[in-house]
Amino acid sequence: MRSNAASTPAHDHLTRRSFLKTTSVAAVTTFAGLTTAGDVALGAALTKAQRDRLTPDEVIAHMKDGNQRFRLGKESPHDYLAQQRASAKGQYPAAVILSCIDSRAPAETIMDLGIGDCFNVRVAGNIANDDIIGSMEFACKVAGAKVVLVMGHTACGAIKGAIDNVQLGNLTALLSKIRPAVSATEYRGERSAKNYDFVDAVARKNVELTMESVHRRSAVLEDLESLGAVKIVGAMYNLETGVVEFFS
Ligand SMILES: [Zn+2]
Repeated sequence: MRSNAASTPAHDHLTRRSFLKTTSVAAVTTFAGLTTAGDVALGAALTKAQRDRLTPDEVIAHMKDGNQRFRLGKESPHDYLAQQRASAKGQYPAAVILSCIDSRAPAETIMDLGIGDCFNVRVAGNIANDDIIGSMEFACKVAGAKVVLVMGHTACGAIKGAIDNVQLGNLTALLSKIRPAVSATEYRGERSAKNYDFVDAVARKNVELTMESVHRRSAVLEDLESLGAVKIVGAMYNLETGVVEFFS
């Protein structure tokens, strides 16, 4: 049941704006919780109308705000059961996030998102292939997501493996897709997996190359981006600080 759908569009618009202006207020929830407690059922999933009204920049702002709440330990009071029930008959996610499988970098948790808020693609080293790009095209063109986020993270084991040229079963082929980022990283210090500064520089370059790859290989996403309907952005998640740093 989407009880928040009962709000008038004007009401939703106003409350969304007030949410965006009061980003430090902790008494708000995920994309769907676009107002303070009492006006809507906190924790219900994002409705189509709410998602469709968001611009790509607003979606990015929501994710940044969510990360700030996470860092402050002031996450939204998620009602996962309400979100599950509200989204069972349809989903209207605002973003598709490609991130690493690392257990310490769960996208929804670190950006305080709920059920139905975003599509997730996770693969070691957050590389893109045709299947992943196809998934992104589905997320945006078919299901209406506004943002494609490629998110790497610090101290990434897949990046270290690529630097060390690790050979292990099917992992060998996966790491070969990260290796172009190793050679493309300009770095003056020690270029080894023991140097975390270098590892993180490669991880960032890997995000940039993945974004380039998505641009180059997806006419569908390129078209949506040229229309302003979708933004493709990158980010690095810092395991030490909890900060998700966005970049274009
Ligand atoms: Zn990783």
